[in-house]
Amino acid sequence: MEPDRRTIWPYDERGELDAFYYARYAHPAGVEAESRLGALEGGDALLYASGMGAATTVLLALARAGATVALAEGVYYGTSLLMRELERWQLAFSEFDQTGAPPPADIVWVEAPANPVLTSPDWEALRAHPGLVVCDATIATPVYLLALDEGVDVVLHSATKYLCGHHDALLGATVTRDPELTARLRELRGRAGIQASPDSATSLLRGLDTLDERMARITATASELASRLAAHPAVQKVRYPGYSGVISFDVADPREVETGTKVIVNATSLGGVTSTIESRYRWEGDRIPQGLLRLSVGLEDAEALWSDLEQALR
Ligand code: PLP
Repeated sequence: MEPDRRTIWPYDERGELDAFYYARYAHPAGVEAESRLGALEGGDALLYASGMGAATTVLLALARAGATVALAEGVYYGTSLLMRELERWQLAFSEFDQTGAPPPADIVWVEAPANPVLTSPDWEALRAHPGLVVCDATIATPVYLLALDEGVDVVLHSATKYLCGHHDALLGATVTRDPELTARLRELRGRAGIQASPDSATSLLRGLDTLDERMARITATASELASRLAAHPAVQKVRYPGYSGVISFDVADPREVETGTKVIVNATSLGGVTSTIESRYRWEGDRIPQGLLRLSVGLEDAEALWSDLEQALR
């Protein structure tokens, strides 16, 4: 489907703003995709140029100078780097173990599950916290988690991953139930120009058409691979939350294994129809175990993926 790629639409016959007038604020493909995602999550969705665009908008719109942010340990490395960047603007962030209660903070930021350590948040502890709770649900997707129902204030997605699902679109999303939060996010997105492109929004519409089926197959394959990896003598530790497609496992020489796969692509990112594997140490250093490999399981045949892993582990 070809999206409407115009950046301008005429004012109405009285010279007033119509539904669309300038694409930085809204465009038809974006509004349609937001409405589909919002219906799935049970809230009001907004799309952004990328997952990090969504995270930046949340922090700029909802934090103030001097705000404290409690960030779950082991979450997407880029999120922790963004927080570090914003320390220059007097945002104070500290890390905590999300399997327990968060410390006092204006904003609590969790990931369900954390990429790549795959821990999950303690929902009850989060519900008892007085701060604004943001949950990055990129890996869970709305198929496995409706985080608004768990009481979080803002759900965030890197829709670049499972929601679009084909490694060909960069896209971010937030979903909220509080109209005031939605209005502030929308305002900042427009002011800062962090709007999604019509093409990426169209990729989301395509991705949502197959999301349930992709996630069911990905989960079935990943569950099987996780249990076989756990029994493999060259694998020291396996982390898998029991749903979705990300497995992280530790080996003695991760570089040798990641460059030894032939079906699984040695590349960053996750959540696409094509499986990917990478040593996260190259990015994150000692923040994570040196031998940790992150495997994102795609839609390939499960036996073909297992043979590939087996020969790479040999
Ligand atoms: N959140 C998670 C859990 C991610 O894995 C990523 C990217 O890897 C992001 C956010 C950032 O998303 P994007 O790459 O779309 O900016």
